[in-house]
Amino acid sequence: MITGANKIHHNAEEKTITVMTYKINELFETIQGEGSFTGQPSIFIRLQGCPVGCSWCDTKHTWDVELNDQVTPEEMLTKTEETTQWASFSVHDIFDLVREKGYRANHIVITGGEPCMVDLTPLCQLFEQEGYSTQIETSGTFEINTTEKCWVTVSPKIKMRGGYPILSSAMSRANEIKHPVATEQHVEELKSLLALHKVKDTAIYLQPISQKKRATELAIETCIANNWRLSVQVHKYIGIE
Ligand code: SF4
Repeated sequence: MITGANKIHHNAEEKTITVMTYKINELFETIQGEGSFTGQPSIFIRLQGCPVGCSWCDTKHTWDVELNDQVTPEEMLTKTEETTQWASFSVHDIFDLVREKGYRANHIVITGGEPCMVDLTPLCQLFEQEGYSTQIETSGTFEINTTEKCWVTVSPKIKMRGGYPILSSAMSRANEIKHPVATEQHVEELKSLLALHKVKDTAIYLQPISQKKRATELAIETCIANNWRLSVQVHKYIGIE
């Protein structure tokens, strides 16, 4: 696991506190377009780094963490297109930035990349203390370190190129499971996963991959047959990020 933690010492009291830094690719305010929070004004924090390797990934620019791609926070914030550039922020820098930008949404979505490669607890803790709700979106392939209150969306990425198995701990922590589907095989993979892992009273969403017609039809049919829910990436239909 990448911890992203730096220890600093305060000379007067010799007190050690841990300051987390996060590698951020994008930070923006929009409407959540997927799952239970669809329609909710949200501040998205997109972290850099993901080794999972989904072939249809629509954020491939977040995969690699190259030191050459590190830019200043100002440069990251003024990007006009998706790039591999990222900037390093402390927890408090992120919070101050959200305030400075005048964002009005009170829901934080931490996504990636694969955000669970780092401990998200300090980040979620600070926002929750300040009255925000928090949500993370993860592939279920890394241990989830976050607050108890944080809403966890597991989108299990099964048998992807990176070879990471789905963790039982991730499945049992999930508040919702959102599964991308395009073929019957994807549906069968989800059913096997649900049979294998203990899942609490968790909402199951199917999300058609890339808004393809056949994938959407399959998702609708399967949702009705299993009493699952449909998630259609509303943001892509209305042309927002
Ligand atoms: Fe892309 Fe998410 Fe898969 Fe990583 S886990 S490759 S970010 S879809």
